[in-house]
Amino acid sequence: MPTLQGKTALVTGSTSGIGLGIALQLAREGARVMLNGFGDVEGALAQVRALDPGALYHGADMSKPAEIEAMVQACEAQLGACDILVNNAGIQHVARVEDFPVERWDAIIAINLSSAFHTMRAALPGMRARNWGRIVNVASAHGLVASANKSAYVAAKHGIVGLTKAAALETATTGITVNAICPGWVLTPLVQKQVDARAVAEGVSNEEAKRRLLGEKQPSLQFTTPEELAELTVFLCSPAAQNVRGQAWAVDGGWTAQ
Ligand code: NAD
Repeated sequence: MPTLQGKTALVTGSTSGIGLGIALQLAREGARVMLNGFGDVEGALAQVRALDPGALYHGADMSKPAEIEAMVQACEAQLGACDILVNNAGIQHVARVEDFPVERWDAIIAINLSSAFHTMRAALPGMRARNWGRIVNVASAHGLVASANKSAYVAAKHGIVGLTKAAALETATTGITVNAICPGWVLTPLVQKQVDARAVAEGVSNEEAKRRLLGEKQPSLQFTTPEELAELTVFLCSPAAQNVRGQAWAVDGGWTAQ
């Protein structure tokens, strides 16, 4: 039985990787989905439309507040509501603080953190009016602990965990819940770039670079999958999770238990 029949969902950055995995699972559970992101839009939309023929797409750039607002309004106008909001869009850049390009810092803070503030401030009034909503912020193990050379990403992900807690408190007596999920390594295009860079830098094969990446941080030595994160998202949208509020839920193979 689909569990999200009659609900609508907006998933940012859902043309690839984790966001696409979450959008597919929400559609499988009966939600009507709006996708967002760049790259292979047609391919992503075709996959989701195989499950939800009414799935829509909005091309808002998540670094642009006016476009984000327009996207939430389009979701409410075209799908009838924005019941489930998954803030997932994200980018990465790796460099020491003193070498970090200012423009990359600004882009990471805008896309990985401020975009979630802008979607939430646009979607919360409608959720309050219906007294039901689920906000799932895709943070990271880097929302809980740091790594060198990822200052902007770590700052944005710690920030989104804080934003999650504040919004969860503001909505604590309502039918709206706000939580973060904190994946460890997931083998998506975002991480494949880091694997490729490591293979070149250390003169090893792609497979050896993956083993080294996992060995450094993730005790399970296995990648977390988009499907696992999608199942957790569906649980957070379920009635059983109605009192799970303001959490930062790690799915990181033991990374942050160390
Ligand atoms: P990905 O590169 O596969 O997907 C990123 C998505 O965001 C794509 O759909 C892309 O088009 C979209 N996007 C990027 N910039 C955008 C913009 N300006 N406007 C709109 N959309 C934009 O990466 P992923 O690994 O699936 O990452 C998704 C989220 O998961 C990110 O927030 C990332 O930080 C987080 N995360 C990833 C991992 C991992 O190991 N892959 C671990 C922890 C957290």
